[in-house]
Amino acid sequence: MKGIRVLIVDDSAVMRKIVERCLRQAGIDVKEVIEAANGVEGLAAVQQGPMDLILSDINMPAMDGLEFLQGLRGLDNAKNTPVVMITTEGSESRVVEALSAGARGYIRKPFTPDQVKERVSPLLDGAR
Ligand SMILES: [Mg+2]
Repeated sequence: MKGIRVLIVDDSAVMRKIVERCLRQAGIDVKEVIEAANGVEGLAAVQQGPMDLILSDINMPAMDGLEFLQGLRGLDNAKNTPVVMITTEGSESRVVEALSAGARGYIRKPFTPDQVKERVSPLLDGAR
């Protein structure tokens, strides 16, 4: 598949960069990365144009990852976009909620490029 457009939503700028680096190290052909610091910014970014993949933190100020998922449901631009949650130890119950709200998977911090590849690659096959 051709280079993808990825939205990375996390309130930590450092974590956003780590996620981006892992995607690239995993060999995923990333054409464009859009960053958002919370769900509000994430929804605004999706409204600007559809993404091929969305990676979202759960715990964020202003609008958390679960509220973000709910918001995505109302957007035509997000209809076919896989969303993978980035979680921390202890957020298992929120992961279950996220999966039932439509998330396609999750990656637990700390993660390796291989783990990112394992979770993300199957969701990208045939996306374009
Ligand atoms: Mg956070």
